[in-house]
Amino acid sequence: MSEKKEFKAESKRLLEMMINSIYTHKEIFLRELISNASDAMDKLYFKSISDGKETVSRSDMQITIELDKGDRRLTISDNGIGMTKEELENNLGTIAQSGSFAFKTENEKTEDVDIIGQFGVGFYSAFMVAKKVTVISKAYGNDEAYMWTSEGAEGYTIAPAEKDSHGTTITLEIKDNSDEENYDEYLTPYKIKALVKKYSDYIRYPIKMDVEHEKLKEGTGVDGKEPEYDKEIVTETLNSQIPIWKKAKNELTDEDYNQFYKDKFHEYSDPLLHIHSKTEGTATYSALLYIPERAPYDYYSKNFEKGLQLYSSGVMIMEKCADLLPDYFSFVKGLVDSEDLSLNISREMLQHDRQLKIIAKAIEKSIKNELKKLQKNDREKYEKFFDAFGTQIKYGIYESYGANKDELQDLLIFKTSNGVSSTLEEYVSRMKEEQKYIYFASGSSVSRIESLPQTELVRDKGFEILYLTDHVDEFCLQMMHDYDGKEYKSVSADDLGLETEEEKQELKKEEEDNKPLFDFLTEKLNGKVKAVKLSQRLKKHPVCITSEGMLSVEMEKVLSAMPDSQGAKAEKVLEINPNHAIFEKLKSLYATDKDKTAEYADLLYSQALLIEGIPIENPVDFANKMCEIMAEN
Ligand code: ADP
Repeated sequence: MSEKKEFKAESKRLLEMMINSIYTHKEIFLRELISNASDAMDKLYFKSISDGKETVSRSDMQITIELDKGDRRLTISDNGIGMTKEELENNLGTIAQSGSFAFKTENEKTEDVDIIGQFGVGFYSAFMVAKKVTVISKAYGNDEAYMWTSEGAEGYTIAPAEKDSHGTTITLEIKDNSDEENYDEYLTPYKIKALVKKYSDYIRYPIKMDVEHEKLKEGTGVDGKEPEYDKEIVTETLNSQIPIWKKAKNELTDEDYNQFYKDKFHEYSDPLLHIHSKTEGTATYSALLYIPERAPYDYYSKNFEKGLQLYSSGVMIMEKCADLLPDYFSFVKGLVDSEDLSLNISREMLQHDRQLKIIAKAIEKSIKNELKKLQKNDREKYEKFFDAFGTQIKYGIYESYGANKDELQDLLIFKTSNGVSSTLEEYVSRMKEEQKYIYFASGSSVSRIESLPQTELVRDKGFEILYLTDHVDEFCLQMMHDYDGKEYKSVSADDLGLETEEEKQELKKEEEDNKPLFDFLTEKLNGKVKAVKLSQRLKKHPVCITSEGMLSVEMEKVLSAMPDSQGAKAEKVLEINPNHAIFEKLKSLYATDKDKTAEYADLLYSQALLIEGIPIENPVDFANKMCEIMAEN
């Protein structure tokens, strides 16, 4: 009756990785299997409640571990929801998150350790220590039980089996010792106890194991008699079962919090920050929130799902409750446990639940406060956080058209021309008395921005400049409009507010005197620029591109890189330094050789584009013309 089947391709590869044990922490297999067992019991409890049928009693639920050294067997049993034949096939024959595995294959260089960490391969980790795995399972409410067996990547079989009651029993036939690895350990009670304590202490169901104790034989060991011992089997509960979030903060160490995080969310590195809050009042809840150290690989993709685990009085009722987190804090992981929520509340009802809304608001506030605290007290850590998730916060401001500005603007930090990472508040506090605007410059990197000609004048005045290196930065600033009444101003903006009236008049006169030249240059550039002008902001550099209107050159770059680019264009202005020799050259050429002047216009425009990091339309033509000129001299 049994049929041998092959694993789905990607599962097979993962399995091979497991079997060849690329991961050094083989011991985590136990945690993975215990977690699955615990989830299975949660599911059963929840199902029995929502079915409204006779409730299964939680106090009967337990996980049992048995060791058989002789047969090299480690067995983990639960009386949870169990699996049907189809579920055995679907859950254990394919890797759940195959999308994530596809990612791995595209990024072969990624470290294997990370792969397992990020994808929580769960059940398959059994193959790190076992040469054969047998799963016997009976789904709750079903009469038939089935047995799934596999000796590795070759495939698996499923056959009918006998099992008294619902639940799952997983038997691992432990590998033989090798030079590198002592697998025997996993058959000793001492090691198993230590592993449960380390990884699964907070599992809410008792994890029980029969342990052999030695008991002094009565009448021995006294009155000078040699002590003799009887062997006695005692069923021990290996875990403390108290959920960490129910404990008092002062009972817990950072290590406890971090261990729980890694255990619960299948993470392999410590979080950057944990937030443990208990609140009573309009809403009674405990929350344990974590900010990961870095963004998951799919964070900025459509596949990413935000959400916190939701518990009602210690029972998990939802795996990912999205309503508990605003999008701009979607990177937060964690759980919320509240007595105010009913156990069998439906997803739809939950969305409108007043209590849940109050909790969500309170959570948002505490995340924000903790981030502000971190920003103040540990800037280095905060910068790490901002590197990972700052973009999301900026999107939060941009996408709300600035409505979230007050909530979020103080979380932003930018690199600046002072060589620091600065909040807006800090920037403003350093502003000079005569400084009207918050200046910013955009570019793909700090070093690129530092060499931008457009920054010359602002720098000359000794004003600090915010460096915008993130795609969303300029859009975000545009939505925010000002900070504390101080408007943002691009160093490429039309009017920097730095020129004296006299200087402006002087420039204007120079332009008017040479109007035919400027008209000619603009015309020859044939719609590529809106105007050619003399520049106030250039000191040493000959030319630069600036823009008029809402869309900057940098924003145009970002927009045109987007898949649904509408071809939005910045209104570009070619600025020429009036004090540069090139201006004199243009004037004299215009008087004698119009064709050459037109060629120069093209060259200057191309150079200005290159400075901005914008590719020029015809690099070959550009290079040829440059060489011609070089050869002339
Ligand atoms: P994950 O737990 O991350 O979903 P696993 O590979 O560990 O991935 O398990 C795959 C699926 O197999 C689980 O989601 C669950 O549906 C099922 N499963 C695993 N162990 C058990 C168990 N002891 N009882 C019931 N179902 C289980």
